[in-house]
Amino acid sequence: MRLLIMGPPGAGKGTQAVSLAERIGGAHISTGDIFRANVRDQTELGQAAQRYMDAGEYVPDEVTNAMVRDRLAQDDAREAFILDGYPRTVDQVATLDGILDELGTPLDGVIELVVDSEELIQRLLKRAETSGRADDTEEVIRHRQDVYTAETSPLIEVYSSRGQLIKVDGMGDVDEVTKRIDAALPS
Ligand code: AMP
Repeated sequence: MRLLIMGPPGAGKGTQAVSLAERIGGAHISTGDIFRANVRDQTELGQAAQRYMDAGEYVPDEVTNAMVRDRLAQDDAREAFILDGYPRTVDQVATLDGILDELGTPLDGVIELVVDSEELIQRLLKRAETSGRADDTEEVIRHRQDVYTAETSPLIEVYSSRGQLIKVDGMGDVDEVTKRIDAALPS
């Protein structure tokens, strides 16, 4: 199964995507994780991405798209994957459509985790206490929500109009959300 998982920062995408990747036997592809690994290793890609990430801005599409193109071409992503944190812009949707077309591997569904916005801020502030992430300060957290609303939330409508959107209530504890995802997935 080939899936996207979408939702605002703090919706629990990463947590759910890790276990979902295991259940579908596919690659977990988190653009945020790939960027963070590159920042840590101070690669050229990491150097290009870091200042955007620290400010809570999106890394430019050409950088992100090239990275995802490479990653999706790898063998472990052939049959099954969950893309976590990509696409985030209309341009990235168009690029992803092209990549999947070329590979002949269409998506099976797009999970949207729906979470109340005040709960999101609280979750992220809690995560900030332990994550050590440079983009987990309150100011950057609020900015990342605004960027999501402006740039990424319109994508929900795109996938909904294609009949691919699977809305899942993301409130409550992790296991409950996991069960809801499993119940909602195409068989
Ligand atoms: P995440 O871990 O998914 O919240 O991503 C952390 C940061 O990485 C984001 O705030 C962006 O700066 C960058 N990032 C991750 N995915 C993308 C993407 N698809 N497009 C642009 N920037 C991204």
